[in-house]
Amino acid sequence: MSFSARPIRARFDAAALRHNHAIARRHAGAARLWSVVKANAYGHGLLRVAAALREVADGFALLELEGAIALREAGFRQPILLLEGFYRPAELPLIARYQLIPTLHCLAQVEALVAARLPQPLPVALKLNTGMNRLGLDATELPRALERLAASGAASVLSLMTHFACADEAAGIEAQLRRFKGMTSAPNLSNLPVSLANSAALLRYPESLEPAADSRENWARPGLMLYGASPFADVQPAATLGLRPVMTLEADLIAVREIAAGEAVGYGGAFVAEHPTRIGIVACGYADGYPRHARSGTPVAINGRRVPLIGRVSMDKLCVDLTGCEKVGVGDTAILWGGTAEEGVPVEEVAAAAGTIAYELLCGMAARVPIRETEPGDG
Ligand SMILES: *Cc1c(COP(=O)(O)O)cnc(C)c1O
Repeated sequence: MSFSARPIRARFDAAALRHNHAIARRHAGAARLWSVVKANAYGHGLLRVAAALREVADGFALLELEGAIALREAGFRQPILLLEGFYRPAELPLIARYQLIPTLHCLAQVEALVAARLPQPLPVALKLNTGMNRLGLDATELPRALERLAASGAASVLSLMTHFACADEAAGIEAQLRRFKGMTSAPNLSNLPVSLANSAALLRYPESLEPAADSRENWARPGLMLYGASPFADVQPAATLGLRPVMTLEADLIAVREIAAGEAVGYGGAFVAEHPTRIGIVACGYADGYPRHARSGTPVAINGRRVPLIGRVSMDKLCVDLTGCEKVGVGDTAILWGGTAEEGVPVEEVAAAAGTIAYELLCGMAARVPIRETEPGDG
């Protein structure tokens, strides 16, 4: 860990990560799990997360080639799926050398793989567009891709995947699942492994895991839930799903002051005290990844009690209203997100108060925040 004198840190709980993985496993039934570790494992640190899952992960999925290589160089032997395949053909020899599985999402990638004439066929995943309309082969392109791969011998093991747009919303997955089944019902495809479910589908739609029942191998792709956040926090908070936060962002109070009624706090004087108010200044700001748009009233937990954020979040600090918390003083620790259900604040709640989602806050935690690993036995 790098040295940082500022009293801010993110605590990383490896036991919580393994616990959440076990919950994903319980929901997955016979399906296997790609642990999604893109974006530096959602801000938690790729190698740290992979190490915590070393004994339990069936495979890792990410889209950064350099991250995938780092996993191999760190000795991880599990299958590694590249969720966007390759961006330039020059990456293909590395993909082959490190035994990575590229996703092919368009015919141009298929052609590039065929043209690369690698010494060995590569295992590949074919991504199908079933309605998300970002990446994926359409129904008309799939036969062409299969034909090119078969004729060239460029691919060995094939698997089929798609990604749901609304697994966490009212629209659900039904229409996409129907299209997927339609596109993959041909006899030559019916035994290929499939991968459909993200966290939301894994938790909410067991039918997205069903193909396992008709003898196909099925791989779910949970990301967010592994890190202890709920994809649908408004209706099912993480705690009700049995998930535990893996990251706790905390910082100490570096000043406490009393202000008179009518005094303003912070940039723009956005908060004006209505009565004499005790203010705490916390050493965490938007340059640490705390959202600048978090509105006044966003909860911050100090000594097991929630106090409201007031005024604008600055680059390096934020202010809280400590009125009535006479015992709280400089050096006490504020939990910005994470922590236990009793003593902390779910990251989803902070995200909602800032008009964003937990994914963005976790991925956006700044590199200047040192990450400390909770020692085994710390609870
Ligand atoms: C990010 C990602 C996932 C994981 O999604 P969560 O909502 O975090 O579970 C799964 N599949 C693909 C293709 C992704 O890009």
